Order: sequence, then structure tokens, then C-alpha cells
Amino acid sequence: MTYTDLNTPIRTIMTPGPVEVDPRVLRAMTTPIVGQFDPAFTHMMNEVMDMLRVLFKTKNKWAFPVDGTSRSGIEAMLASVIRPGDNVLVPVYGRFGHLLMEICERYGAEVEAMDTEWGTVFDPADVIQKIKETKPDIVAMVHAETSTGCMQPLREIGQACREMDILFIVDAVASIGGADVRVDEWCIDGLIAGTQKCLSVPSGMAPLTYNERIEKRIASRKKVERGIATDEELRRQNTLFIRSNYFDLSMLQDYWGPRRLNHHTEATSMLYALREGLRILLEEGLEERFARHAFHEKALIAGIEAMGLGLFGRREVKLPTVTCIKVPEEVEADSVRNMLLTEFGIEIASSFGPLHGKIWRIGTMGYSCRRENVLAVLGAFEAVLIRHGVRVHRGEAVQAALDCYMKPAVKDPVNI
Ligand SMILES: *Cc1c(COP(=O)(O)O)cnc(C)c1O
Repeated sequence: MTYTDLNTPIRTIMTPGPVEVDPRVLRAMTTPIVGQFDPAFTHMMNEVMDMLRVLFKTKNKWAFPVDGTSRSGIEAMLASVIRPGDNVLVPVYGRFGHLLMEICERYGAEVEAMDTEWGTVFDPADVIQKIKETKPDIVAMVHAETSTGCMQPLREIGQACREMDILFIVDAVASIGGADVRVDEWCIDGLIAGTQKCLSVPSGMAPLTYNERIEKRIASRKKVERGIATDEELRRQNTLFIRSNYFDLSMLQDYWGPRRLNHHTEATSMLYALREGLRILLEEGLEERFARHAFHEKALIAGIEAMGLGLFGRREVKLPTVTCIKVPEEVEADSVRNMLLTEFGIEIASSFGPLHGKIWRIGTMGYSCRRENVLAVLGAFEAVLIRHGVRVHRGEAVQAALDCYMKPAVKDPVNI
């Protein structure tokens, strides 16, 4: 048996992740390896921490990536914070809320969920009311629900948690780098991001940040070493110490901090990639980058609606980086997606659970979020729908998007 040379197709990726990666990031990943304690490398680790603080809009001391996909960051945060028996409130408005619940349960939390219809978000007042009733130790929620294309306002919930001395933990995997996230201003105690979405870095790292409130909690749960611990310390840690080694933030922070205590071997090439991805983001500018995402989202929506298709979800709370489209009654959703991929090399996404087959999701994230991609997906989408017998307004979609792009006063916020 012989295996052929690696020969991946060139795709236009318009999903909510993983998305296309800037060639600069791919080049950075081919940079030679240096050792994990080489000053050249530890310097780079510190640079990444600095850049992450800017991205997160925080003064937190701790901002670093966990090695693994985004959910590894979520698991590290929850494993390190949740003490068995802690009450955690999880407001759920899509699939990733269920993921938070599931991980909380694994680490011994008493989980209380609250639900709202998919395609909407919570009125912050309702969440605050529930917090007052249930008095949880922790509130964990998703900022941007990739599964429904909705974005939850967090500021008031964060402020309420702070006033009541409750820890507030947020999954911002799908919004970070594409929509505004303000860790300090919104009183978020712990926040998790991802690389393969709006940062346009390959999947494999989960940048996160946390403040002193969480640092204190983690310090109280640090596993003491056998042999140097007193009996009292050993008794206490029997119930309290962090149950995961890989995801123990107290150990990770000793590795990312000045002590550089050995834990895992940092994923060298992924760190190069993240560093380059963050550098590109800061060169573009955070606010400029958010404006670019909103700009291309607008053109995409104009095209979809001009075709005669409807959007799923409440418009006022739409996530700018994911657009959900209702599948017309008579169409098999996956057949449309397959034809887009095989005939046009364009990938869009389906959704999960109750929404599978009911909506398509188009991502406009990071490096994938650019003019030629939006125009290509609209043109191809129209052609494929016509092939599937859907009566669309022929020729309108691309023209409507071009109208957005070619208004004399409007320029792409950034020309990539
Ligand atoms: C993509 C995503 C995740 C999971 O990310 P992985 O990298 O696949 O582990 C978690 N939460 C949200 C909101 C996401 O969009």
C-alpha cells in the first residue's frame, strides 16, 4: 500500500469554523522549532499573552492559550473553578449551552438550566431574576451561539453577578475577533475563546483569560504535593483539589508565569500560528475588524433576502459572524450543501439537533470574511437552489450584494 502526496482541495470555507487561514499564519507554522524554555520561545509566549489582553480588553494578569480545541479551554476553566457540589446556573439558548451544562456536570456541579427558544436570546432581566432566586456560585453562558446565530448581551448579567459575588464564566469562542467582547467592562471573571473561528488560525488552541477572583479560587484548589503537605492540607485537598492534570489552570499558570514550571510541552507551531494571527488582527485594528465583519454580513444578508429566502432568528440579536437561513419546505438541506461543495468547492454548514435540515448556516469569519467569498457563495447558492427546483428571484442575489459593495461612498473597511 502506498499513500499519495498530501493534496488537499482548495476550498472556499464559509462555515462557522474551521475557516480559511491567512497564508501568513500558514507560513509562520513552518518556522523551525525551538525548545519550550528557550528564551526565544518564552519571549514569544509573553508576546502572545500581551496581545491576548488587547483582544480580550482586559487588564487581567492571566491570558494564555490552553492546548487543544476550544472546548479544552472551556473544560480547563470549568474543571479548575467548579468545586464538587457548586451550584451553576446555565442559561441555554442553543447547542453550546448544552455543552457547558454537560462539562459542569462532569466536574460535580449541581447544574440549574434555564431555557429559551432557539433563535432568540435571554432578556438579561430574566437571567438576573433567576440568579436572585437560585443564588448560584457560578453563572456560565455562551456569548455567541454558533448553532442559532444569536448573540447574548452580557453587560447587565455580568454586573449583577459581580454585585452578588457570583463568578461569571463566558464562552466567547464564536465572537472573539469578529464582534466586540469586553472582559473587564462586562465584569466577566473567566472567558474562553477559540482559534479556528474569527481569529483564522487552525483549530488546536483555546486562548482564555481570568481575573483575581478566579485566581483566588484556583489557588485554594491547588493540589499539594505528597510528602510536603501537612495532614490538614491533605485532608482538605481530598475534596477540593482540581481533578484534571492537563486542565489544571494553577499548573498552567505556573508554566505561563515567570516561574516557568514544566507542565506540558507547549504546542510550538500552534503558538507561532496564534502569534501571527493575533499580529494580523492588531495590525488591522480591533474596531476595524468588527466593522469589516459587520460590512460583509450586511452584503451577505442583502443577497440572501434579494433571492427571496428568509433568515432564521431574531434580527436585533443576530450574531454578525454567522447568518442562518431558513431552508424552504421542499428542499433537502444537505443535498444543497453537498452540491455547493462538489460543484463549487464552497462549504457552508448545517446545524444541530432540532435545527438540522431546517437551517443553513453561513459563516463570515476572519480571513474567510471577504468580498469575493461573499459574492462567490451567493452566486453558487442561487445556482444550486435553482437546480433543486427552488423558485428564487433569479440574478438578484449577487446584484444586491454588489450594490452594497459598489456604493460610491463605501469602501471595504480593509482590503484583504
Ligand atoms: C466552535 C464552538 C465551540 C467548540 O469548539 P471546538 O474548537 O470544536 O472545541 C464551543 N463553543 C462555541 C460557541 C463554538 O462556536
